[in-house]
Amino acid sequence: MLESELKVDGNAIGGLLREFFTVEMTAAESTCAGCGKVHVVGRVDVYMNAPGVVVRCPSCTNVLMRVVRGGGRVWLDLSGMRCIEFTDPEA
Ligand SMILES: [Zn+2]
Repeated sequence: MLESELKVDGNAIGGLLREFFTVEMTAAESTCAGCGKVHVVGRVDVYMNAPGVVVRCPSCTNVLMRVVRGGGRVWLDLSGMRCIEFTDPEA
């Protein structure tokens, strides 16, 4: 199957991210470490069966985030993001 057939938008990982972060993350803004563009997490490109979940920048296709789960552990790789900005849970 082509990668494009598996592509969905960032809203597909809203529930997954909500398990790790205490705030709604689809409205968060991520800065791509590759091209520097800022995208709302709800609008990024998500590949659910990559293996694991792979999130790519819609502008340059750089991998922003990888999420792999297995054996009771989670690997969350955010190295493709320069920054992620979201609502302060204490605000
Ligand atoms: Zn980019």
